[in-house]
Amino acid sequence: MLCELKERERAGIINPIFTCQPCGAQFASIGIKDCIGIVHGGQGCVMFVRLLISQHLKESFEIASSSVHESGAVFGACGRVEEAVDVLLMRYPDVKVVPIISTCLTEVIGDDIEGVARKLNEGLLAEKYPGREVHLIPIHTPSFVGSMISGYDIAVRDFVKYFAKKTEPNGKLNLITGWVNPGDVTALKHLLREMDIDATVLFEIESFDSPVMPDGNHVSHGSTTIEDLTGTANAQATLALNRYEGGKAAEYLATEFDIPTLVGPTPIGIRNTDAFLKNLKTLTGKPIPQSLVRERGQALDALTDLTHMFFADKRVAIYGAPDLAISLAEFCLDLEMKPKLLLLGDDNSGYQHDPRIKALQQNVGHEMEIVTNADFWELEDRIKNKGLELDLILGHSKGRFISIDYNIPMVRVGFPTYDRAGLHRHPVVGYAGATWLAEQMANTLFADMEHKHNKEWILNVW
Ligand code: SF4
Repeated sequence: MLCELKERERAGIINPIFTCQPCGAQFASIGIKDCIGIVHGGQGCVMFVRLLISQHLKESFEIASSSVHESGAVFGACGRVEEAVDVLLMRYPDVKVVPIISTCLTEVIGDDIEGVARKLNEGLLAEKYPGREVHLIPIHTPSFVGSMISGYDIAVRDFVKYFAKKTEPNGKLNLITGWVNPGDVTALKHLLREMDIDATVLFEIESFDSPVMPDGNHVSHGSTTIEDLTGTANAQATLALNRYEGGKAAEYLATEFDIPTLVGPTPIGIRNTDAFLKNLKTLTGKPIPQSLVRERGQALDALTDLTHMFFADKRVAIYGAPDLAISLAEFCLDLEMKPKLLLLGDDNSGYQHDPRIKALQQNVGHEMEIVTNADFWELEDRIKNKGLELDLILGHSKGRFISIDYNIPMVRVGFPTYDRAGLHRHPVVGYAGATWLAEQMANTLFADMEHKHNKEWILNVW
């Protein structure tokens, strides 16, 4: 087999690809309207994550911390949650949804966040805020298992589990986008509109591409409402775009409410967008309109101009969120490129059973490694010490120093991408996303050829 799946053998992480589970839970919670999460742990668990998300989205938003200190770490810190909920409700009269997101510290000391929620419901909320709609939702995201990806997956499931309630069928489609950018949400809504599908787009952050309005500064909030979440149990079907970011919620809805469900593929590249539209058709019965056939044709035309002439045999390393990284590898293969190394930054044991990884193992015709539980040293070590030659790196901004140090061109994609302007606005999903992504890759390669006086750039006059 030319494509090998292996786990990082070395102990210790050198420059992690992902951050921890609470980050994912925080990202999921900002997609809900009238929601401010309380992260139960030290202040840094919010401070750094919030900074990361803000740098990526270039927007301001709110997340709270229970701000646990030494005494809480020793004697238990449930009291900090009680105070935090009270302060949050006093300070923000519109807040209705308050996830209580645990961290490594509060999981280790064993704080009973379900018990705190019960106590607050019966005490503080009933006595001080009678009649006010408030939902306290414990979410367990210890940082010593999984990663920000599983944290997102768990949080999405827990929100859906808390709210979903069977009443009357609403005829809608649940679309669980996974961890995407505002530009991706806009692109997905466009595809749904063209298909004439009435969908609930869950954990919806399109509004994080927010305007500056005459009435002053703007704090961004997600758009998924409590009604949207409640209605997930009454949908016609569920489509989750990502297996590892939203797959658990899709599975829950299928099992608990018998809702027809499909998971993946992430609609990156032509074949995966084709599969997405076919899945929409299967679940809703709506035909794929001519307008999308035309969009597909435009994308194919754009990619044909680039593929064989410029992309063929270009060696690529890809890292980041698993659904994204796998889809990017599939896209690169379709563009005649050679993904040489795929780095998945956590130890999810499910990767070995992922049909897309199995398909890569069976079909890739060149030497390729897929490394799980990987860090950036897995990439750097191969370049520095093991003779890995690359033409391109695809991944988020945290890996940029490898690109800089070893003079390998890089296209920023995924989360976070804070060292390039406006990337959160540009979709990578759908046919338009495939075109944009391929053109970004091509232009990056062209600029690199010019910069390095590689004569191949002279060909760049088609
Ligand atoms: S590793 Fe633990 S302490 Fe650090 S940010 Fe994550 S949850 Fe907080």
